[in-house]
Amino acid sequence: MRRLTIGVGVIALVTLAWIGGPVAAQGGPDIFEAFGPAMRPEFVSDLDPLYRPMYEMTVTLAADDEAARFSGTLAVQVSNTSQDAWESVVFRLYPNLESYGGQMTVDRVAVEGAPVTPELDSTGTVLEVPLPEAAAPGETFHLTLAFETTLTAGVEALYNQFSYLNGVLAAPDFYPILSVYEADEGGWWRETVHSSGDALYSETSHYTVHLTAPEDFILATSGVTLARTPGEDGTVAYEIIAPLMREFALMGSADYHVESTTVDGVTVNAYSYEADRPHRLAGLNLAVDSLTVFNEAFGQYPFAELDVVETPTAAGGIEYPGLVVIAERLWSQANQRFMWVVIHEVAHQWWFSLVGNDQTRDPWMDEALAQYGVVQFFGKMVGPNGRQGVVNYFDQTFSPLRGTVMDQPIGLPVAQYGNADVYVAIVYNKAPLFFVMLEQLVGQDALLEALRDYFAAYRYEVAEPADLLDSFERSFDRELDDIFRSWVGDFPGLD
Ligand SMILES: [Zn+2]
Repeated sequence: MRRLTIGVGVIALVTLAWIGGPVAAQGGPDIFEAFGPAMRPEFVSDLDPLYRPMYEMTVTLAADDEAARFSGTLAVQVSNTSQDAWESVVFRLYPNLESYGGQMTVDRVAVEGAPVTPELDSTGTVLEVPLPEAAAPGETFHLTLAFETTLTAGVEALYNQFSYLNGVLAAPDFYPILSVYEADEGGWWRETVHSSGDALYSETSHYTVHLTAPEDFILATSGVTLARTPGEDGTVAYEIIAPLMREFALMGSADYHVESTTVDGVTVNAYSYEADRPHRLAGLNLAVDSLTVFNEAFGQYPFAELDVVETPTAAGGIEYPGLVVIAERLWSQANQRFMWVVIHEVAHQWWFSLVGNDQTRDPWMDEALAQYGVVQFFGKMVGPNGRQGVVNYFDQTFSPLRGTVMDQPIGLPVAQYGNADVYVAIVYNKAPLFFVMLEQLVGQDALLEALRDYFAAYRYEVAEPADLLDSFERSFDRELDDIFRSWVGDFPGLD
């Protein structure tokens, strides 16, 4: 945890911005002051000039042996960045997905202070908030919502990505999150199928979080903690900022111990249980080396902090903006698998967190590049043999499917792969070979340069397959439609 002692002036500014109405979001000077401490100094200017949704949350976390519960209010400043008039906006309540296994309720929803009645779909995960007057393109408006989210102790669902197990709280997305408006897809994104893979699809936003939590919890969150003030009632008040992030993630445990260091101006923190102390430094060093390799290979990580956190996830690891979690079963061994997972999850900071994509529709776009990050890491840190070992592993893991009916394009939505094993074989093992093949076609230096161009063009944005195709065609100055079609499959924008 980073305990900066920045005067209360910064927090007051954020609060005043709200009292004063629609300021700051268009990039006035206060946005730099309010969110600058979460950026590396040379990337503070990234806060300007584009519009981002702004979330301000006041929330209390309470926990006992039975459950952990968040209750709070959320104020969101939204601008209609599309060319369409908006009759409504859609929030996603991820905790209500079966694969999250939590419960979230929302009430007291208001637009510009006037109460409105939202509509919740049958899955409990798509909340449509009507706007009393349609929002014209370019118009900015304000919503407030009250929410309560419960994680029942001991409940396990899919990857335990959202869980409260043995006193360890894993709580990404515990608040309502704006969905993505897709003009070319006919409106707000409403996908609710989540059989495997990642569920979240969202826009880069700015977060200010006023959190009160039990004092015995050690918390790891996206962004940076500006202030941590113990109360007299066994709680601690946190002021947290997380600008330019697609979601806000929070992990907590009384058993977390932290090891920290700084690399390239980024504070890296490793949080592990006390029992796994011997491997905490290994986790920290792997994250540091990954950050170093990817800063050079892909482009610079712009944030002031990155956390690597042990949780009971049933996946090897899961990526969140500014924070990755690694499964406790891997921390306790710190074997080769642990190494791969840390590298892969840190690579997701570039592919998913900074350059976004619809993780349910185009999972290959972030997963294949995160895996390609492992190739780069081993090439840089171990050498040609280490690198070839990773490529061979992908090839051998995928090869039983080669030439069978299960050998499918790498560009299908998660749900179309039928089962999780085929999904993993194709998206995690065949898909990175697409980038290895491109290396052979144009050379490694040219491919990395093209990836840096793609990263520079789409960081903080959402990219679709056609964007990657266009970006690579420009970088390589050649047509790539046939190559993309044969590997990725068909997608809008392919000639
Ligand atoms: Zn991944």
